[in-house]
Amino acid sequence: MENKVLKSIEELPSPAFVCEERLLRKNLELLKKVQDEADVKILLALKGFALWSTFDLCKEYLQGCCASGLHEAILAKEEFGREVHTYSPAFKEEEIDEIIEISNHLVFNSFNQLNQFREKALGKTSIGLRVNPEYSSVEVDLYNPCGVYSRLGITKEKFQADNLEGVEGLHFHALCEQNVDALEGALSNFEEKFGAFLPQMKWVNFGGGHHITRKDYDVEGLIRLLKEFKKRYPHLEVYLEPGEAVGWQTGYLVATVLDIVENQMSIAILDTSAEAHMPDTLAMPYRPDIRDSGKENEKKHTYRLGGNTCLAGDIIGDYSFDKALKVGDKIILEDMIHYTMVKTTTFNGIKLPSIVIKKEEECYQVVKVFGYNQYKTRLS
Ligand SMILES: *Cc1c(COP(=O)(O)O)cnc(C)c1O
Repeated sequence: MENKVLKSIEELPSPAFVCEERLLRKNLELLKKVQDEADVKILLALKGFALWSTFDLCKEYLQGCCASGLHEAILAKEEFGREVHTYSPAFKEEEIDEIIEISNHLVFNSFNQLNQFREKALGKTSIGLRVNPEYSSVEVDLYNPCGVYSRLGITKEKFQADNLEGVEGLHFHALCEQNVDALEGALSNFEEKFGAFLPQMKWVNFGGGHHITRKDYDVEGLIRLLKEFKKRYPHLEVYLEPGEAVGWQTGYLVATVLDIVENQMSIAILDTSAEAHMPDTLAMPYRPDIRDSGKENEKKHTYRLGGNTCLAGDIIGDYSFDKALKVGDKIILEDMIHYTMVKTTTFNGIKLPSIVIKKEEECYQVVKVFGYNQYKTRLS
């Protein structure tokens, strides 16, 4: 099946993530517009989107990648090229040499780490510090980098103004799925707390969480805000590093109904899993959209959709359909490319979803099919 080119969704292996090149290019074009008009550089955050068989397309538009550690940095270098920026909450002694070798920018999360690795990094990579602007606007704690007791970034209180030898940039990441108003708030806190150090810096990085490709995002407002910032600090290179905005609404997960059982309601068992293939549906939690479906009882036939693992809570949600479901029907779970593919597991021995690219030529290319080996090799 791997590397096969297929004509229709019906022929695809199941389950499968399907990313549509056309939709990805649309997102990339919008991001490039921001880059060009505001004169900033945009990096792809691999944490949220690491579908590397699309990187030839991505690198036509974006400057490089931001990595969260050694493995993402290697992937960025091998498959993307261009700039590699690496930040980690804490780097390890045994990995730092390789990370420095690969990274154009290296961002430390604390002065301890800066002191520990500065000598090694000096002259080989551009050193930055992640600061915490203490602008807390993300409501879900799991995703709030500026929540109470956050370990991510240095607060103003702990900032050592006299210990900046070799530091060329400041980085903040304070947002999650947000619009320009939130960036405006975070940026104003950042400048108020750390603005005094900007004249001596070469670059700043505004992190990710900018939901630039979402329909209601104020792209013109972002460009305006960035231009105003650049007017205040014309010597600074400005970076943004969105992940979600790159993969946002670029594809789906196709699954198949394996059985329908009854227990005071109808329950369809799919060949996928909320726990193993869409963990955010349980962790966040959220209800994924399913193509041609409604809320429970909104359409004629209601089902609870469950996964094919033995976990009782492996439930995607309750949905209704115009026609009764039957074994073999395909279910299309929308917007499953960003953050979903990077988080899959082989829990319960369930097979990982295949990976398919819908080419701009309107055919489906199966780029990856997983098997028993991926389950076995991560255990011993
Ligand atoms: C998660 C993360 C990003 C990407 O965030 P998105 O919400 O996917 O845009 C960028 N930078 C850092 C440091 C991150 O932790």
